[in-house]
Amino acid sequence: MKYTRISINTATPAEARSRVMIIYTGGTFGMTYDESGVLIPFDFSLIKEQLPALRNLFLEITVISFAQPVDSSNISPEHWKAIAEIIFENYQDQDGFVVLHGTDTMAFSASALSFMLPGLGKPVIFTGAQLPISQSRSDARENLITSLEIASAKISGKPVLPEVCIYFDYQLLRGNRAKKVESMHFDAFESGNYPVLAKAGVKIDYNLAAIAQAGEEPLKLLSKFDSSVAILKLFPGISKPMVEAVLNTTGVKAVIIETFGSGNAPSAEWFVSCLKSAIKKGIIILNVSQCPGGMVEQGRYETSKALAEIGVISGSDITLEAAVTKLMILLGEYGVDYTRAAIGKPLTGEMAY
Ligand code: ASP
Repeated sequence: MKYTRISINTATPAEARSRVMIIYTGGTFGMTYDESGVLIPFDFSLIKEQLPALRNLFLEITVISFAQPVDSSNISPEHWKAIAEIIFENYQDQDGFVVLHGTDTMAFSASALSFMLPGLGKPVIFTGAQLPISQSRSDARENLITSLEIASAKISGKPVLPEVCIYFDYQLLRGNRAKKVESMHFDAFESGNYPVLAKAGVKIDYNLAAIAQAGEEPLKLLSKFDSSVAILKLFPGISKPMVEAVLNTTGVKAVIIETFGSGNAPSAEWFVSCLKSAIKKGIIILNVSQCPGGMVEQGRYETSKALAEIGVISGSDITLEAAVTKLMILLGEYGVDYTRAAIGKPLTGEMAY
């Protein structure tokens, strides 16, 4: 992948307080109108003019821009690899990272990055905007300024946020717990199963009890993905051919069943036996609830008891976004057997237990 690199010292003539790298991948955030009225990617060398408030942050900012910024609906594991490599290669020189990304798949990318960077001890803050930075009512300015402040925040010389997060509309969320829930208003993200990590108001209030602790391990980079994953979303009246088609997809290694409520599914004999024969063939079946809050508890109701008995793995309170990316990275790095044993256990704060 090709990049452009720009250095901006927002502190001059004073000395910069911290160093933050912005990785610009695309999305609505960076759009601006050219003279003929066409939306084109924003030129980051003009950021100080667009955002004079940057000066008050006293930061040395390096911007790495994808040469071809993408709408986040086109994001793929190749892009996750590119973002993670940039972070890994610049890790020692920077105090924190801000990833500018389209909102549509931001929760997938933030989840993927959280699994790709074990040992992370510095902030990686994803943000974006619902309106382009060039528009007067845009949320881009606040989202970027506060993300930069969070990415450079320290307590007793240590980064406050040694984890991958999403900052949006005055809220900081754990990346692998977040979901896009709104496409028109500014409050685009929620993390139904995990507390907000910080709220930005007159000051930024950090919820220190909910923020991960940095470990002793050095940063590692995991970047092998296996996308042989499918999702089977259940609905009342779902047909046997439909279920069979997903479970029999050529090459599939893991299927997420998106179930009702606390992990419930039809108890029809044909449905349970379809799952049973997939499991027999070695396919991993993971139970993730369609509810944005609460968790899977297989066996709580009759309609989920059979799932536990045939070897469906409980996804606990994991989001679909975290489940998909966790499966892809575990399958890619370690293969099916390891993934089967590890998928139901917390790896990096993405699930309760
Ligand atoms: N379609 C855009 C994207 O995800 C929307 C946005 O940036 O908010 O790239």
